[in-house]
Amino acid sequence: MQKYTCAYCQKHACHKNDLENAPKNCPTKNEQERLKDIIKEYKNEENYKIAKTSAEVVMDNYGGKPRVKEIVDFCKQMGYKKLGLAFCVGLAKEAMIFAQILTKYGFEVESVICKLGDVNREEIGIKDCSVPMCNPIAQAEFLNGEETDFNIVLGLCVGHDTLFFKYSKAPVTVLAVKDRALAHNPLGALYLADGYMKGKIYPKE
Ligand code: SF4
Repeated sequence: MQKYTCAYCQKHACHKNDLENAPKNCPTKNEQERLKDIIKEYKNEENYKIAKTSAEVVMDNYGGKPRVKEIVDFCKQMGYKKLGLAFCVGLAKEAMIFAQILTKYGFEVESVICKLGDVNREEIGIKDCSVPMCNPIAQAEFLNGEETDFNIVLGLCVGHDTLFFKYSKAPVTVLAVKDRALAHNPLGALYLADGYMKGKIYPKE
């Protein structure tokens, strides 16, 4: 049986300072000591700055800025100078626009495409495919080599993004994730979970 069930919580007492009405297995109510220990992590200089800057960026014109602008504001306020952009070939046009925007704001932008290296898919055990494999480890390593202050992922596939996060030395954010079926809006499947998408996202009964 699972321990944490916040996804099914109807109270969200943690969000309302109302722990008296929290569910029985509420981790906010039941794991106070552990949470106190974890809060200490925010005293780490980098963590503190990231957390505080994130909150400030979100609160500034709350809900009124697209994520592109929030990323710009976050990077500016963090004092980052050199940014890495790890993008998918399928979003090359968007990558160019985004790189141009970042450059106009004064950032130095290192951008690396997913097909970096033109590596045959046989390297990962996939035969008879002329399309080169995606190479997120190379994307991360090349950006590491340029000592980027911060990296931004644009449209990497599920799992490729995982490897990029795993290998990136700089902290990372995501501008967009890959969803070929839904114009890179994966939440569309959840918005339509009771409708058109039902048969596509639930297991067959
Ligand atoms: S932390 Fe507690 S109150 Fe908050 S969502 Fe989870 S179960 Fe609900």
